[in-house]
Amino acid sequence: MHDSDKKGFDTKCVHAGIGEYEFGSVVPPIFQTSTFKFKSARHGANLFTGEEKGHIYTRMSNPTVEAMENAVAELEGGYKALGCASGMAAIDLIFSALLQYGDHVVCSTSVYGPTRTLLETVFSKFGVSTTFVNSSDHLKVLHAIRPETKVVYIETPGNPTLAISDLSEISKIARAHSCHMVVDNTFMSPALQRPLMLGADIVLHSMTKFLNGHADVVAGIVVVNTEELYIKMKKVLNQTGGVIDPFNSFLVHRGLKTLAIRMQRHCESATKIARYLEAHPMVKSVSFPGLPSHPQHEIAKKQHLGHGGMIAFELQGGFQAGEIMMNTVKLCQLAVSLGGVESLIQHPASMTHFSMGEAGRAAAGITEGLVRFSVGIEDADDLIADLEQSFEEIKYRMGEKEFRNSI
Ligand SMILES: *Cc1c(COP(=O)(O)O)cnc(C)c1O
Repeated sequence: MHDSDKKGFDTKCVHAGIGEYEFGSVVPPIFQTSTFKFKSARHGANLFTGEEKGHIYTRMSNPTVEAMENAVAELEGGYKALGCASGMAAIDLIFSALLQYGDHVVCSTSVYGPTRTLLETVFSKFGVSTTFVNSSDHLKVLHAIRPETKVVYIETPGNPTLAISDLSEISKIARAHSCHMVVDNTFMSPALQRPLMLGADIVLHSMTKFLNGHADVVAGIVVVNTEELYIKMKKVLNQTGGVIDPFNSFLVHRGLKTLAIRMQRHCESATKIARYLEAHPMVKSVSFPGLPSHPQHEIAKKQHLGHGGMIAFELQGGFQAGEIMMNTVKLCQLAVSLGGVESLIQHPASMTHFSMGEAGRAAAGITEGLVRFSVGIEDADDLIADLEQSFEEIKYRMGEKEFRNSI
């Protein structure tokens, strides 16, 4: 239990992890140092044995990093957190700490691409096998569990479809089979979803996204629910070395203060834009957990405090329409990543997944007109106006007739 458990989430965002500092500094100073002086040989010895508390070396611990870790742990309602060099470093830490030769993982199919690749190309070399299941159907998770399953890994909302998985149902299944339940909470942030409260053991984030929120840091974090898990993870992180640095910790901690109000705006704008897109004649379908048309809308309503800032939509007009949209939006910027204050737009078929070819994309379920939109905190009406002028360009460039033919 944290002292501030009674306080509201917005208050926690501003104050979590902040202590008392020299000169009355209101924010944690940046301890940009690799190492810390010992007062004497005995002091050094005591720090290593743990008889005295203090910092030794920044890979092991650093006050600026700890302040940020404490803040994220408090926001997620966890025991403690471990800052990592990136989201992928956080995921690698979790698998490295929990798995050994012969173990098995059950993982959501709708998962961040490199997470799947890590399991399939790196952990498979060390004798770890994985079954990918559509975790939106929690019974599929149950049926994939084997005696050697150690980890159930869920991403919800998942990449890139925004499929939702029921965390409380799946955590019951994981618990009944003595598996650790891990949740990638990157798309929601603790402002909108708290997996540890729903029964998960470990939550991770790419803090590159909403937690930092300003597209200027690459970082990750692992939040655990017990001291035992913390000690286990801390040892592995110290050995593998994928730690966050003090300056990035400072930036993330600064970003956390506005997390609640940023997420509120992301949710409001994304809801407005999702409704606009759903009513648009040039849009075939919209995936947004807040729309009643989303296949897991009922689960989303139960487990989200808001539905986030991510929208996936399918254009009428396929590949060509997607390409024109990318080349004609003005306010929305063409880039991968998400969760920043600025809106980012991406067309997998012509950008990130172009090299797969149409057949490869079809096999992976990536449709030709799919657009992924990370809604920023600009005025929603300005974003809608930007999309609308882009739709006009699509109509003009493809020609009314050709456009109709491609539908
Ligand atoms: C970006 C992302 C990651 C990886 O994080 P990095 O900080 O880029 O290493 C993992 N999971 C999800 C859902 C992401 O969006």
